[in-house]
Amino acid sequence: MREDPGAAKINYLRLSVTDRCNLRCRYCTYWRDWRKLPSGEILRYEELLRLAAIAAEMGISKVRITGGEPLVRRGLVDFIGKLHQVAGIAKVCLTSNGVLLEELGPALYETGLRHLNVSLDTLRRERYRQITGRDNLAAVLAGLERAASLGFHPLKINCVVLQGINDDELLDLALLARDHPWQVRFIELMPTVSQEWWQRHFLPLSEVLRRLTVLGPLMPSTCSPTDGPARIFRLPGFQGELGFITPMTGHHCRTCNRLRLTADGKLRPCLMQPGELDLKGPLRLGLGDGLLGYLFREALDLKAGNAASPLAPSHHPGRSMISIGG
Ligand code: SAM
Repeated sequence: MREDPGAAKINYLRLSVTDRCNLRCRYCTYWRDWRKLPSGEILRYEELLRLAAIAAEMGISKVRITGGEPLVRRGLVDFIGKLHQVAGIAKVCLTSNGVLLEELGPALYETGLRHLNVSLDTLRRERYRQITGRDNLAAVLAGLERAASLGFHPLKINCVVLQGINDDELLDLALLARDHPWQVRFIELMPTVSQEWWQRHFLPLSEVLRRLTVLGPLMPSTCSPTDGPARIFRLPGFQGELGFITPMTGHHCRTCNRLRLTADGKLRPCLMQPGELDLKGPLRLGLGDGLLGYLFREALDLKAGNAASPLAPSHHPGRSMISIGG
């Protein structure tokens, strides 16, 4: 249990439903070496629903579906509908690259889903292809428009800042929040692929903030208890907001409120530390809810230990984002 009274309550679970993706983002994984999980290793939807119910018993009230790219997994819409029915889960959110959003947006909205994060690092077609390996910018922009017209809210744009690649576009990306009621969130690059590439392209968000001051005074906005470590700002004349997520230069541990469940059923207390607890093995061996709940409790204790530990976080997740779920 977290005994530190100032520490965030752990109420948020990121659920990776697949390690497959329809993009090949330069910073996400070693695509050449990447081997997809055999499908039998990936948790089935009924297993995910059972674990979500146990997590809710442990105090989790917000679940974010992630991946890989969640929208490439068949049956996802139906699963999201069922996740909304799990007692105790008050908020269901989805993180997607948006490529299939135009097609799936209406069915997703029908499930009751409203909270949507879409990853978008550039507004330029050739650059998008360079970063993601695919010529899909038009599809993502169409998906965003569709999502906005359907009424998804909040709609958040996740933008990884890449020095020398998209840092000349920061103003254009920020202005999406002026022209739309969206939250544009800048994220610091983490060294998941190569240290050398990271060193070349990492830009601290303090510098991003400095460059964005030309837009006007950034006024801190209040966050809800399940928001986690993003710092949110409003700007005069903006319909939306700007967010800043600093995994590299900000110390998150006391404000971090999340656990991660990987597609192959590993519960991960901390993105930056490689420790994981296997849930799939015990689940498939037939353990009861009480014992699975005990494993969740173990992860919560591990997380509290991480936060209290004098060791600095390793600053490396130990495996690529596509397999953890970002
Ligand atoms: N496919 C979905 C998407 O694109 O949003 C969900 C999975 S993706 C791994 C989740 C988030 O992790 C994305 O916003 C992506 O930009 C971010 N991400 C992946 N690798 C990263 C890295 N090395 N540093 C910072 N963010 C990263």
